[in-house]
Amino acid sequence: MNRAIRYSSKKALLIALVIGMIPSILGGALVYLKSNADLSGLSATAVKEAARQIDVMLEEAENASDILLTRAGLPCPGNISRQLQELVATYRFLRSTHLAIDDKIYCSSLPPSEASPGTDPNNYLHGRLHLGNQTLTGSNSSALTLRSALNNASSLVEIDGRHIQDALHLIDRHSNLVLEIGRHWMSQDGIIHHASFENYPIASTALSSEKYGYTLYAAYPAGTLLTYMLNTYLLLLVLLLALGLFAGVFTYWMLGRVLAPSLELQRALSADEFTPYLQPVISSTSGKCVGCEVLARWYHPQEGSISPNSFIPLAEQSNLIISITKRLMEKTAQELVPYASKLEAPFHIGFNISAKHFESFELVDDCISFLKSFKPGQIILVLELTERELIQPTRTATRLIEKLHALGVKIALDDFGTGHSSLNYLQLFKVDYIKIDKSFVSMIGANALSVHILDSILDLALKLDLQVLAEGVETEEQRDYLGACGVDFMQGYFYAKPMPVTDFVSKALHHPQKNPALP
Ligand code: C2E
Ligand code: CA
Ligand code: CA
Repeated sequence: MNRAIRYSSKKALLIALVIGMIPSILGGALVYLKSNADLSGLSATAVKEAARQIDVMLEEAENASDILLTRAGLPCPGNISRQLQELVATYRFLRSTHLAIDDKIYCSSLPPSEASPGTDPNNYLHGRLHLGNQTLTGSNSSALTLRSALNNASSLVEIDGRHIQDALHLIDRHSNLVLEIGRHWMSQDGIIHHASFENYPIASTALSSEKYGYTLYAAYPAGTLLTYMLNTYLLLLVLLLALGLFAGVFTYWMLGRVLAPSLELQRALSADEFTPYLQPVISSTSGKCVGCEVLARWYHPQEGSISPNSFIPLAEQSNLIISITKRLMEKTAQELVPYASKLEAPFHIGFNISAKHFESFELVDDCISFLKSFKPGQIILVLELTERELIQPTRTATRLIEKLHALGVKIALDDFGTGHSSLNYLQLFKVDYIKIDKSFVSMIGANALSVHILDSILDLALKLDLQVLAEGVETEEQRDYLGACGVDFMQGYFYAKPMPVTDFVSKALHHPQKNPALP
């Protein structure tokens, strides 16, 4: 049965896996979205802060330009050239200042070189901004140049590229800030590129300055997201995994307990895998087979025959016991009807009935259908109720018993001696037979002390003035002892084991039973 359960536990495993993955998938998706939002927030902050710093530099350059342009046209040597140098010393971001008339630089804070961008407005974005390595003073390091013009005069103010690099680099080293001016762009390492710029894919952000026309970009390379998730939300991810694992294991355990066996039993029922086995009941006086007990067997396709002790409790838990018993009654009738003439009337056929079954009037219909299969009076249907699980004396139960008795159905109290049935209970349920449990029968021949227990059980059963059957009779000694005590019927391996209906008809009915009471 355990392997049979494992067979259906594949389904349970699948369900548990799906449930176990839910916290990880949902949580993982949330962490993914949150990380994406975090990185987008970081790159947006980075471009804003870089724009603020670059604007400060450009405003400084603009202020310097305004002052320069008021000096345009005045002779360079002497006062103006000194003022140009003073401006560079006063404004901390400036590297050099230049004044031009009619596009000719005629005065500079540092000696100018011929190199680009010169004064040509075409070299400047919107005629105002230029980013490059070739500086006005010829030094081969990067600079951002602001060009301003007034009438025929123009000023050129250079911001040192190192300050731009600092703004890009120091704000957030990981966000890959880039400053783009026209076709030129500066990366965080301060290098100026002239190829077209392509941003990284993660959390890419761009901010264009309305005032100056430059664009700032920030983004993260592929793979950053995973690293960020692991660095920032590792504990949460581990917790989610643990939660998923717990949910999966718990589901598997729960399904293993409840769903898997009932699913498997349901499947077995649909596949008609339950079969009746019959065990003869022998009359102590005649030695003849006067009846049988029907015992369920489950033929599992992989496991073979499974004992009822393994699946009946599960069938009871899952309420499938009612359908299983119903099917057993139908099959027993179908298989036994062809041999009905060989059964000595009235032939007792006992079915084990669970307490659950006593809660529904379906039982009455099942008994009617069973009895209808045989000629009237040919069969006595016996319902065996176990003493281990006493039926609650509800209105339904008592009315059910009345209806059953009206049909001629008899009631046997199974496993007598193992439970706590009272005299009141026996009368209420109109018990007709008592079946002494095999655990007491096995005491015969064991030791003298335990036989006393059997004696008192037998004494009690016989005093109740009900017909008594002893089950689990395995030896001659047990049979003789019980026969001598006045037990009416015997059942046990000494006579025959439970067997399929066809074997029962060919073996148990035709062959004389071992009974010393007979000559
Ligand atoms: P039970 O009603 O007490 O049935 C007697 C059990 O004792 C049967 O076990 C039978 O094979 C076994 N038995 C008979 N003679 C001997 C013997 O001489 N020695 C020994 N050691 N055992 C003997 P089985 O068939 O394994 O059934 C076990 C229990 O499962 C039954 O005990 C009964 O409580 C339950 N059961 C079987 N079929 C059904 C069913 O269709 N419905 C319900 N509700 N319970 C069933
Ligand atoms: Ca029984
Ligand atoms: Ca029993």
